[in-house]
Amino acid sequence: MEPTGGISLKARDDRFLRAAATVLKEYTIVRRQAPEDGWIVFDIQGGAKDYVVKVHPEWRGQPQCSCPDAAQRARSDTRGYCKHIIATLLKHEEFRGQLLEVFL
Ligand SMILES: [Zn+2]
Repeated sequence: MEPTGGISLKARDDRFLRAAATVLKEYTIVRRQAPEDGWIVFDIQGGAKDYVVKVHPEWRGQPQCSCPDAAQRARSDTRGYCKHIIATLLKHEEFRGQLLEVFL
């Protein structure tokens, strides 16, 4: 295990961060002007399908994504944090703290 920014990442988490880096490069993450019930909404565009990520600014709930991975594989591997959620959190400094949940 290599220390990355003070956090020792498991290989599984490392894979997910690489996937998120791909999302950041190849997709467009657009923040909507209007929140929905206090949740900030992001449109993830440029992949095979468009997805919607929702992040609560005060972390009242876990970030959500409309992709199938968030409901299935990511749910058991990374607590429901799919690559779209991780990329969205990485891109927006004010939400980066919410990434901690993945590594606990
Ligand atoms: Zn997703």
